[in-house]
Amino acid sequence: MEDLIQRAAEDLIKARYRIALTGAGISTESGIPDFRGPDGIWTKNPEAEMKAYELYNQFKADPKGYWEERLDPQGSISRLFSILGVIGEAQPNPGHHALAELEKMGILNCIITQNVDGLHQKAGSKNVIEYHGGINKFRCMVCNRRFGKDELNLEKIKMEGKLPPYCQCGGVIKDDGVFFGEPIPSDVLGRSQKEAWKCDLMLICGTSAVVYPFASLPEMANPATTIIEINAEPTPLTGRISDYLIQGKTGEILPKIAERVKKI
Ligand SMILES: [Zn+2]
Repeated sequence: MEDLIQRAAEDLIKARYRIALTGAGISTESGIPDFRGPDGIWTKNPEAEMKAYELYNQFKADPKGYWEERLDPQGSISRLFSILGVIGEAQPNPGHHALAELEKMGILNCIITQNVDGLHQKAGSKNVIEYHGGINKFRCMVCNRRFGKDELNLEKIKMEGKLPPYCQCGGVIKDDGVFFGEPIPSDVLGRSQKEAWKCDLMLICGTSAVVYPFASLPEMANPATTIIEINAEPTPLTGRISDYLIQGKTGEILPKIAERVKKI
């Protein structure tokens, strides 16, 4: 294990453009429950999961109705969002902080995350692509502009009877989180592909990367790209796509790698 940590630190330093792909594994260490495990969010709230499956079609068919229900405290959409609220309140763990530190040292160029919790940004990472959107943000469905919670006064828009909210470009605004059945936003898809093509080192942290289209990112990388996996268990990438697996918790391994990079 120590040998692999040394090897990863040396590979990171040698590489010219390094990106990290992160998934649920890095967030569960911040106490965020998974979705389908025994204590998973959907396992414990099957009616919320059913609602989550309907959301995208509901939004497309009737954005005004969607927003009215979303802002109605008794409505099933606000109930779903309050169940998901635990995700937005979590705090970053040592794994997030180590990646932010590597970026500051100029050793990590970009993070592409499947997580919607915003924990990389909370830890201080700057160049983060949120593949599935962010839970505390909104997005224009036409120009893809993102809006923070404080940029959009939803209660005021509701009071004035102007729902759904519209972007300056005229596009209707939706929650940024990518719903079931919703395509990945085009800007995110394009930027992620470019990063995957460009990198000569890819760190895969806390994800088995089996859900497409995210799973296509490791496959898009140049064959010469060094792919390092940090996961609790071997995954379908192990021995096929990744050059080596450092098995264990991202919250323990990433800080060790960052420490080692500093010493070299
Ligand atoms: Zn717009």
